[in-house]
Amino acid sequence: MAAGSAIQIPSRLPLLLTHEGVLLPGSTMRTSVDSPRNMQLVRSRLLKGTSLRSTIIGVIPNTSDPTSDCDELPSLHRIGTAALAVQVVGSNWPKPHYTLLVTGLCRFQILQLLKEKPYPVAEVEQLDRLEQFTNQLKSEEELGELSEQFYKYAVQLVEMLDMSVPAVAKLRRLLDNLPREALPDILTSIIRTSNQEKLQILDAVRLEERFKMTIPLLVRQIEGLKLLQKTRKPKQDDDKRVVAIRPNRRINHIPSTTEDEEEEEDHDDVVMLEKKIRTSSMSEQALKVCLKEIKRLKKMPQSMPEYALTRNYLELMVELPWNKSTKDRLEIRAARILLDNDHYAMEKLKKRVLEYLAVRQLKNNLKGPILCFVGPPGVGKTSVGRSIAKTLGREFHRIALGGVCDQSDIRGHRRTYVGSMPGRIINGLKTVGVNNPVFLLDEVDKLGKSLQGDPAAALLEVLDPEQNHSFTDHYLNVAFDLSQVLFIATANTTATIPPALLDRMEIIQVPGYTQEEKIEIAHRHLIPKQLEQHGLTPQQIQIPQVTTLDIITRYTREAGVRSLDRKLGAICRAVAVKVAEGQHKETKPDRAEVGEGEDCKEHVTEDAKPESISDTADLALPPEMPILIDFHALKDILGPPMYEMEVSERLSQPGVAIGLAWTPLGGEIMFVEASRMDGEGQLTLTGQLGDVMKESAHLAISWLRSNAKRYQLTNASGSFDLLDNTDIHLHFPAGAVTKDGPSAGVTIVTCLASLFSGRLVCSDVAMTGEITLRGLVLPVGGIKDKVLAAHRAGLKRIIIPQRNEKDLEEIAVNVRQDLTFVMASCLDEVLNAAFDGGFAVKPRVERLNSKL
Ligand code: ADP
Repeated sequence: MAAGSAIQIPSRLPLLLTHEGVLLPGSTMRTSVDSPRNMQLVRSRLLKGTSLRSTIIGVIPNTSDPTSDCDELPSLHRIGTAALAVQVVGSNWPKPHYTLLVTGLCRFQILQLLKEKPYPVAEVEQLDRLEQFTNQLKSEEELGELSEQFYKYAVQLVEMLDMSVPAVAKLRRLLDNLPREALPDILTSIIRTSNQEKLQILDAVRLEERFKMTIPLLVRQIEGLKLLQKTRKPKQDDDKRVVAIRPNRRINHIPSTTEDEEEEEDHDDVVMLEKKIRTSSMSEQALKVCLKEIKRLKKMPQSMPEYALTRNYLELMVELPWNKSTKDRLEIRAARILLDNDHYAMEKLKKRVLEYLAVRQLKNNLKGPILCFVGPPGVGKTSVGRSIAKTLGREFHRIALGGVCDQSDIRGHRRTYVGSMPGRIINGLKTVGVNNPVFLLDEVDKLGKSLQGDPAAALLEVLDPEQNHSFTDHYLNVAFDLSQVLFIATANTTATIPPALLDRMEIIQVPGYTQEEKIEIAHRHLIPKQLEQHGLTPQQIQIPQVTTLDIITRYTREAGVRSLDRKLGAICRAVAVKVAEGQHKETKPDRAEVGEGEDCKEHVTEDAKPESISDTADLALPPEMPILIDFHALKDILGPPMYEMEVSERLSQPGVAIGLAWTPLGGEIMFVEASRMDGEGQLTLTGQLGDVMKESAHLAISWLRSNAKRYQLTNASGSFDLLDNTDIHLHFPAGAVTKDGPSAGVTIVTCLASLFSGRLVCSDVAMTGEITLRGLVLPVGGIKDKVLAAHRAGLKRIIIPQRNEKDLEEIAVNVRQDLTFVMASCLDEVLNAAFDGGFAVKPRVERLNSKL
């Protein structure tokens, strides 16, 4: 086997050039073959050959750059190892290649290269012969000493290893049975050495030289082992179970490679990590787990994938804020001022938040409900959450839950999975670095469900004050106390929040803003913020209130202020370009940009100084700054208005009425259109309607048919049977939005009454209310949002169910002043209010005007 005594290698050897390490006599190596040259060798020599001699090849370490493996044969290392190809395995994935198992026989040196293609073949001379060594050994006393010394170190090293590992026991036996001369090669390939070191051993043709070079390597390993055992716990029994042996560079005579350095650093890191674990303030249970893991880590070879996993886990455990918290500084008066400064309007929300904070101040460990702000997008839910954190002096972290449909997102993956990681809660804690932050669970209504479990169920444990002191993330696998975390949730609607989750939270509705509120918000908060973000000053841009109103009414239609904010951002960007251009124009300043442009003249002055706004103002021209954004400028920057007051236009025919709808994005006005045609009394409904809405339509028709005579409603042929030879088509435009709910009942009745009577519905009336078959009007929800939507759309009169009168109190006085409310308890009243001059032939009840 090793430096074979009886082995006589052929004098001509095919050469295998390998980048994958250095093969030494007596050792075995697995090498992958994919270069064309080596593939040829395997195919035509190893796979076709039949004799034992044909399986002997010369393995030469290829010291050239592996990436430059081109057609040219690189310069060959002169000494190689003759090897027996023990096994050849071929595969096609990811590209055709063979894996060779080769056992080193003896050294050889290349005398002459005989051919290069298709694979190199060389005339060689065998270098190692056992008989020679034996003879030498007898004659040279010194070599005998060296070999004795080497043997001693080898035995010492092997005895430091764990004999219960079969490979170690076998090595111990080999030490006694193998000829001493074979040992340097074999031990060099077993102990931890770099390729560079192995190459030096390969080149050491003289046995004496080889012994001399290997002894320091052995000593280095022994020292490394001793050091390792010292750093480990003084538990005697375990100490010997060291599999990975690390080099000690102090006695390293052969230059060490960067690989070695990295390993040493890694080792230091593990020691540091252990220190950190011991000094960290983690819970007792966590400490126990971590110490167990670090014990495992030390025994693990670094190449094992689990090494990195365990290390990441331990690093996370150390980083988590087990006992670190910020000190609450809570002063209700200051909190009120801060909330007022940051947010305009939203009085109800601010009041509730202050109550919550006040109770916290009085009772420290508040196990109160979780606050959940529900309202349309852009009404400031998130930003109030941020303000709460600011008032408390706590860290703030937002966890977006929209679209999350895997419970491991909340609770982490078990560490057995590849790519496992902690859930968002634990991740958030790691990010903020304290255990009492404010966590904003954004969009809880948009949690999904999938095969991977229900994330809402995982949230239950997080949000339950009774349970969350021992929240167990699957990744951590130990409990973490979340009771100090202040959770706030936001949602657009409560309809899609799972009931169990809803039960844990206190819902605070955040309605949309009125136009006036939006103007105030824009001028107090949004515009200053945008100016700052764009590097502009009020001296450079001026946005008057009428312009803001124009943006609100003509360019946005929303309950919140997010689009408004974006539009203001667009204006600032456009102005920033002008300002920057103005600053850089050299001799030819541009035309003054005021939008209207009528009185703008061309600058002709050649000597106008650049980079100075005030200088250009000296010219007898309209001042360049501030740039005034008026409607013309608005049109230029934002394009033509997106929303016009189209209401009156659309109500120019009979059979159209305006309803009010509630959506998670706030209130909206909704047109209902009807037409009739010859047919067989069928009703067609279009516009993405739900079942409840369809029922309302049938109810409306039934009521009108039964009251046709009273109201003198006839079909096209003059019959009171409205469906006689007539088909009706009802359409609810904006077909992409699914509409459902009973509140369109009154609108459908009004629309059909208009169709069958041929009279126009007043163009400034909007209505909402559920109907019954007997013509009563029942209350509906979302009145505030609906009224605001009608106000936004410029409508003047609003018909609402009588029993919703109390909801009007929530609406701002200025909005109420702009509108007339009609409280209707039956359909007669609705129709009377919807048509100019009333509707009933014999009106029984006069229209009711709001007392507001
Ligand atoms: P939401 O979370 O409700 O979707 P955000 O909190 O993200 O809305 O608010 C959008 C933007 O509008 C933020 O920049 C916020 O500062 C601003 N904003 C909303 N409401 C107000 C308000 N009442 N006062 C001042 N700024 C507001």
